[in-house]
Amino acid sequence: MNEKVIIMDVPINKVTMEEATNKVVTYLSGDGKHTVFTPNPEIIMEAQEDGEFMKILQEADLVVADGIGVVLASKILKVEKLPERVGGYDLMQSVLGEIKDKDTKVYFLGSKPGVAKLAAKNMRKKYPGINIVGARDGYFKEEDEAEIIKEIRDLQVDLLLVGLGAPRQEKWIYDNIDELGIKVGAGVGGSLDVMAGTVKRAPKAFQKLGLEWFYRLITNPRRAKRMMRLPKFGIKVVFMRLTGK
Ligand code: UDP
Repeated sequence: MNEKVIIMDVPINKVTMEEATNKVVTYLSGDGKHTVFTPNPEIIMEAQEDGEFMKILQEADLVVADGIGVVLASKILKVEKLPERVGGYDLMQSVLGEIKDKDTKVYFLGSKPGVAKLAAKNMRKKYPGINIVGARDGYFKEEDEAEIIKEIRDLQVDLLLVGLGAPRQEKWIYDNIDELGIKVGAGVGGSLDVMAGTVKRAPKAFQKLGLEWFYRLITNPRRAKRMMRLPKFGIKVVFMRLTGK
């Protein structure tokens, strides 16, 4: 089953966390190459203004709704309802849990120096048996890219998690997937920071109420400018519902 729900031109797979996990695990056991992206409302708004980014999301193999706002929008717009929020961090945890006893090779690319390596160390402790073959920060220069791509290809990485922030991470995966030789490239935003413990997730109560975005806003006011896209997203959803456009 590969049904998608279209929200503002972005196709989102109608999958639960379990179904999304199974899809990624299936990709990892096959031969093809696949992209996995996890847009939230801010990212969907960004894609409205960036045609290249929109195309990349439209061509992706698996796109899940990272953000209660996306699930709500599917309800309000009366397109087919998305079953649940499938957050990028949670999806990656679920996948790592599934592949820990297989010989799937994993590589972490992104976040500030030291973070990806610390994330790898923590994940090896959390998922004993996991085969994380390398980790590298996301503050590299353009001239370092060829060497990074070569390292990943030479290590025969299957699953590459890229945390460079959107839309850079999606564009990076899209542009380099052939050369990387990977089976799955996933854009993970700040997930490596969470795995490393350098950024804390919202308390469970916020997560349950669908208010994780609010917690991120009050604990990291630097995001305020980006988050201005949230009300715009809400207004656009309501406008589309009222006008049928
Ligand atoms: N980042 C990076 N290289 C850069 C800029 C950002 O590796 O040149 C990392 C940053 O350290 C953070 C992640 O990209 O770990 C972006 O996190 P954010 O939560 O802002 O991602 P988003 O919400 O866009 O998914």
